[in-house]
Amino acid sequence: MRQLTPPIDDYRIKEEPFYIPTGEEVALFEAAHKARLPFLLKGPTGCGKTRFVSYMAHKLGLPLITVACHEELTATDLLGRYLITGDETVWMDGPLTAGVRQGAIVYLDEVVQARSDTLVLLHPVTDYRRFLPIDKLGTVLQAPADFMLVVSYNPGFQSVLKEFKPATRQRFVAVDFDYPGEAQEGEILLREAGVSKEVANRLVQVGRKLRNLADRGLDGGVSTRSLVSAGALISQGISPESAAASALTAALTDDPDVTQAIQSVLSDFF
Ligand code: ADP
Repeated sequence: MRQLTPPIDDYRIKEEPFYIPTGEEVALFEAAHKARLPFLLKGPTGCGKTRFVSYMAHKLGLPLITVACHEELTATDLLGRYLITGDETVWMDGPLTAGVRQGAIVYLDEVVQARSDTLVLLHPVTDYRRFLPIDKLGTVLQAPADFMLVVSYNPGFQSVLKEFKPATRQRFVAVDFDYPGEAQEGEILLREAGVSKEVANRLVQVGRKLRNLADRGLDGGVSTRSLVSAGALISQGISPESAAASALTAALTDDPDVTQAIQSVLSDFF
């Protein structure tokens, strides 16, 4: 029977992604890779976790296979399945199997979304054994030195039911991520959104102010991603007010009262 695995070179990151380190995360990631330990990134959505992982994959010269986790994600989705093509049955590696087989970084984004019976299959590959049993193939793959499992989740948004169980979580080297500092976020906006220094500074201040509001009851804050989107709209000629209304306010809330509160904060800045 033929076995297919995705062409791994397609998963190589050709150009260095732009990433401004915000702490010790680069050294920790490199050390974890050398020590063959899996890595856990915790932090709000849009704060740079995915960008960091692609930066590290490029830095270490490793392919990166990303999986967006969701409630329906099954072990089969991660491991692989038989496909029938014409009169032939072929085995197609899933992303985890492909990563283990070929020594890639496998990044499971929003890992707590996945069902706990799916997460259990990560256990043997995240401890000293580093092997992946594939029952359907009747084989066990030993992970090469380069293979690394990276997972992320947003602690603010997980439901009680969807907790990342200690038995799984304690296997990982965990790093807390947060929005970049003022100077760094300004630099990100200059580079990613192509705005002027003045607009970048203003957006950074808006972000800070709205995050303070978020601490006082708003669901989730303004992410660096939303600020970059607002900046990109401004660079395209949209007025700062409209850009902020579309990329920040509408993205944050559907509630008319909260919208009004945010708009009044924004009008102080633009
Ligand atoms: P997450 O995975 O945490 O949801 P992303 O990694 O997709 O967030 O980050 C969202 C956007 O924010 C990126 O596309 C990038 O423009 C910007 N960004 C955030 N942090 C950084 C950083 N430290 N360096 C460069 N860009 C960043």
